[in-house]
Amino acid sequence: MSFRSLETADLAGKRALVRVDINVPMEAGRITDDTRLRAILPTLYFLSEKGAKIVLLAHFDRPKGKRVPAMSLKPLADPLSDLLEQPVAFADDCIGPHAKAVVAALENGGVALLENLRFHPGEENNDPDFAAELAKLGDLYVNDAFSAAHRAHASTEGLAHLLPAYPGLSMQRELEALDAALGKPRRPVLGIVGGSKVSTKLDLLNNLVTKLDRLAIGGGMANTFLAAQGVDVGASLCEHDLGDTAREIIASAKAAGCELLLPVDVVTAREVKPNVAFSVRSLDAVAPDDRILDAGPETVKRLLEAMDSSSTLIWNGPLGVFEVPPFDAATVSAAKRAADLAMAGKIVAVAGGGDTVAALNHAGVAGEFTFVSTAGGAFLEWMEGKALPGVAALET
Ligand code: ADP
Ligand code: MG
Repeated sequence: MSFRSLETADLAGKRALVRVDINVPMEAGRITDDTRLRAILPTLYFLSEKGAKIVLLAHFDRPKGKRVPAMSLKPLADPLSDLLEQPVAFADDCIGPHAKAVVAALENGGVALLENLRFHPGEENNDPDFAAELAKLGDLYVNDAFSAAHRAHASTEGLAHLLPAYPGLSMQRELEALDAALGKPRRPVLGIVGGSKVSTKLDLLNNLVTKLDRLAIGGGMANTFLAAQGVDVGASLCEHDLGDTAREIIASAKAAGCELLLPVDVVTAREVKPNVAFSVRSLDAVAPDDRILDAGPETVKRLLEAMDSSSTLIWNGPLGVFEVPPFDAATVSAAKRAADLAMAGKIVAVAGGGDTVAALNHAGVAGEFTFVSTAGGAFLEWMEGKALPGVAALET
């Protein structure tokens, strides 16, 4: 993949249409987590210093093509201005005369935020006329919203074909990290896939077995694999109807030379409650009313050894019910070892997924990984090996 570079672009006095993801969680008009606002700051500082006129394009929530006042981006203008330490102008529509006037009034280095793109049906429909209206407001296009790149919308895909298109600095960083983990990784590459169900991660598992040297399967989905191999998993979460699917994945892994690491022991309890009585069981000793809630110590030991002898780690999905201690133990041990190896420069450790990010934060090590993606759906589609329209459209 090859992209234009913002670093070498001529930006002074140019109007840059910058697609960002500032779909932050809000309660009663207040932002409860500003991670996404902070994530776009490097790109905005950079553009501002180079004298570009910055026009922010973004969506908020799901207004479904209609103007929904409660889903306005206006409440984000002031918080953004505080973070940037410069004024942020706001236009109450993302196309048309008011948007034009707000953009025309920008000085070099100035910033404007345009109203929610999804107030127009043309955004999600990737309507060429709507994209052309947006294009009139800029001289170049910058996409810094990797988390929206799995959608082919006007502002993430169509617009990229109408103006010189660049990845923003955060997008660039994310693409480099993902490439280092799955594109051109240092081998051996170890994957960890956990989480609750096989059914939600079929495409992901099928893609990973063709790319990785080793794949550790954990979480509830490991139960489905164990049951498919004749293990009695008692009252555990298990998709018993996916036995054939699990056996097919085991066969494709073998065919592709990917070593599968399945649990060799498990932690069970009768109910999922903090600090309930639990047992460590071998696979032949799971009782009918037992629920498997975490990987056992021998499984964890083998996983840590696999990490020690790998050069790259790509991780999605917790190894157990990490929200309920002590069933966080395997996930926390694995997270800490990955972080130590990454900090020591021995491994490239990349992770992503909503609950995975929460689990790494719970373990207190998210900041020590090489890269942790907060992109959710886009990250998973990338792990599934799918082309992301918002990334493909940026390619030169
Ligand atoms: P992500 O959001 O990172 O992609 P998932 O949504 O696939 O991850 O999986 C996370 C969920 O899987 C967590 O809520 C966790 O409690 C659950 N889980 C992990 N192990 C088990 C298990 N053994 N039994 C039931 N649920 C599990
Ligand atoms: Mg999840």
